[in-house]
Amino acid sequence: MDISVVVPLYNEAESLPELAAWIERVMTEHGYSYEVLFVNDGSTDGSWKVIEQLHAANACMKGVNFRRNYGKSPALNTGFARAQGDVVITMDADLQDSPDEIPELYRMIKEEGYDLVSGWKKKRYDPLSKTLPTKLFNATARCVSGIKNLHDFNCGLKAYRSEVVKHIEVYGDMHRYVPYLAKVAGFTRIGEKVVQHQARKYGSSKFGLDRFVNGYLDLLTLWFQAKFGVKPMHFFGLLGSLMFLIGFIAVIVVGALKLYNMYHNHPYTLVTNSPYFYLALTAMILGTQLFLTGFLGELITRHAPDRNHYEISSELM
Ligand code: UDP
Ligand code: MG
Repeated sequence: MDISVVVPLYNEAESLPELAAWIERVMTEHGYSYEVLFVNDGSTDGSWKVIEQLHAANACMKGVNFRRNYGKSPALNTGFARAQGDVVITMDADLQDSPDEIPELYRMIKEEGYDLVSGWKKKRYDPLSKTLPTKLFNATARCVSGIKNLHDFNCGLKAYRSEVVKHIEVYGDMHRYVPYLAKVAGFTRIGEKVVQHQARKYGSSKFGLDRFVNGYLDLLTLWFQAKFGVKPMHFFGLLGSLMFLIGFIAVIVVGALKLYNMYHNHPYTLVTNSPYFYLALTAMILGTQLFLTGFLGELITRHAPDRNHYEISSELM
């Protein structure tokens, strides 16, 4: 099969028939063999009924029905696991992404050798309250992930070589960082294509401004996992040692200063009267705790089932 289109959706019943017809038109025009995987993320508006009708009319329209709402990432992950096409394309269900982009995305993966091509909604039809924070979000993501050439991490329209989606796990709210996940898994040929974007026609956006707070926290998590996932002591040990050392030196200085003053009969007070004494004490306690956290982290990763999981692309034995 040439193409699998994975469509995560939550309460998008009005958009679905239009989207399905549009995808079908593009696919038949270009003669692709294809499937469309609608992953219904616990919709309450009869979206599943619509998907059943679409499936009855055209067997290429397939569906997975979640019993409750889990989120976009779990929906994508489920679609990825089931996708059979050589190229997997993800697309939002709200008609904001245009199926007309499919042929070019497919070509870029097949002919230009990209592992992943991400859409870039260069001209957006979203409220300013969303586009402005998005700019900041993308700049941060570029910087942390080291994928310098992407302008729009969170674009719903993306194309993947089949291998890529079979080797990454999208969970929680990590759909914002699939290119980063792919990079961590060793797929580094990541490209970008400017795509058309439309204003939402039916229904409403499912994400509020909290996406930027959560997105930022998720980015930190990914960064930490990619860098220190199996060696947490390298992170906590260094921080803890530094902290402890600063505290220790400060305590020595505070103590030595008092001894010096005593010895030379200068006026002196209790060391506990000095604010530096308390700062030093706190630094030493924090340092010890960070260090212990490192040890605990090491014990935990020692038992992680995938601590010795490596992405191997080929072998000669
Ligand atoms: N979506 C989903 N589960 C959720 C929230 C959203 O599957 O819990 C789907 C939604 O139906 C849409 C896509 O994810 O197909 C993107 O959502 P939305 O259009 O609301 O996001 P925005 O365009 O505002 O970024
Ligand atoms: Mg949308």
